[in-house]
Amino acid sequence: MAQAQTHRGAMRARVPGQDLGARGRDRGLPGEHMRRMGAFAGQAILQALLDLLYPPRCEVCDTLGPEAFCAQCLAQVLPHEPPECRLCGALLPRSPVTRDILAECAQTRRHYDGARSVGIHTATLRTAVLQFKFHNRRRLQGPLARLLADRLEVEQEPPQGLPLRQVDCLVPVPLHPRRRQWRGFDQALLLSTELSRLTGLPLVIGLARTRPTTPQIRLTPQEREDNVRGAFAAVGHAVAGKRILLIDDVYTTGATVSQAARAAKDGGAAAAYVLTVSRPAPPWHPAALALEPGEA
Ligand SMILES: [Zn+2]
Ligand SMILES: [Zn+2]
Repeated sequence: MAQAQTHRGAMRARVPGQDLGARGRDRGLPGEHMRRMGAFAGQAILQALLDLLYPPRCEVCDTLGPEAFCAQCLAQVLPHEPPECRLCGALLPRSPVTRDILAECAQTRRHYDGARSVGIHTATLRTAVLQFKFHNRRRLQGPLARLLADRLEVEQEPPQGLPLRQVDCLVPVPLHPRRRQWRGFDQALLLSTELSRLTGLPLVIGLARTRPTTPQIRLTPQEREDNVRGAFAAVGHAVAGKRILLIDDVYTTGATVSQAARAAKDGGAAAAYVLTVSRPAPPWHPAALALEPGEA
């Protein structure tokens, strides 16, 4: 009997919360276990009450339901799909003249080896990104990371596409610590953490912000370049010799991710690709819109 109790005790220690039947039958529970059971029941009751008072809703359209990004909202996401610039991933007009790279990508130096996005930064995807980033709606972490994982799956192999599934690790584009403190969390880190869980690709904190940068929204492309130049540094030898996939929420001019990739290359990265949740449509596209201050 003593042996059985010891065994049950060991079970409880190993798998807390999964041995309720044994706990309930055991009338000789020590006070500590009773307290824990009480706390567990208390939490469950509290959660049930909270669900009654504040039923779960879609974080994007506010409709009642268990999903943080409901099926109707997901159906409205405009996917970022070919024709795209084979380097930066920008949408290209469907024209009879086949052109697979933007003139500026053929001329100017990008430090990354290729960039892709899940969808156009408009409608429900834009709302989801903004709710996640500025309104701390962390329930969107799972659905947004799932979209990133799905995008990895559909990317074609070289030479048509980028070898995004053959990378060695995921590296979040870091926020400066001061902005992280102000915002309370780091959206690229949260997305990378969940994407790592979904794909099995290791998460590496390979980059750090070396100085704060001003928000990019009112800056010209050249000013953006200057603003983020030298803003990142590789962390030790974390990315040395590795093919990395940089993760961020929004791709705007590409200045930020280009500088992040540059720092990774300086730190010895063998290749640096970029994957973001959304990207504003180019000016010729019907979904083109003016960004709000602080949006990018
Ligand atoms: Zn919705
Ligand atoms: Zn391009």
